[in-house]
Amino acid sequence: MDCIFCKIVAGEIPSTKVYEDDRVLAFRDIAPQAPTHILVIPKEHIPSFACITEENAPLAAHVLAVAAKIAHDEGLEEGGYRIVSNCGENAGQTVPHLHFHILGGRKMTIEMA
Ligand code: AMP
Repeated sequence: MDCIFCKIVAGEIPSTKVYEDDRVLAFRDIAPQAPTHILVIPKEHIPSFACITEENAPLAAHVLAVAAKIAHDEGLEEGGYRIVSNCGENAGQTVPHLHFHILGGRKMTIEMA
């Protein structure tokens, strides 16, 4: 599988891990856009948010629950934080493996674009 995030899951590409279990991995973004910028991904290769189905939704829900726990553990709750999943070309998705960005530690801009 020629996927950067699958290679990170396999340990073939190094990452700064912040959380791991049997289904989910979270690591720090290599080009942080905020003081705290973490990516949370399912270990299973799901290409994008558009590929979430009733069948894999329990896994996606677990990824989100882990994201909430990490945000808590990173101390982001008090100031607030943003969860982003870019889906497809117009959204600027660059890695075709489902991931949720956790962005925190600064005031986010209000714009959605
Ligand atoms: P997106 O543009 O929404 O697909 O997000 C992909 C994110 O992956 C970007 O924020 C990149 O900085 C990040 N990224 C790409 N390669 C790596 C890597 N090897 N380790 C950590 N983050 C990465």
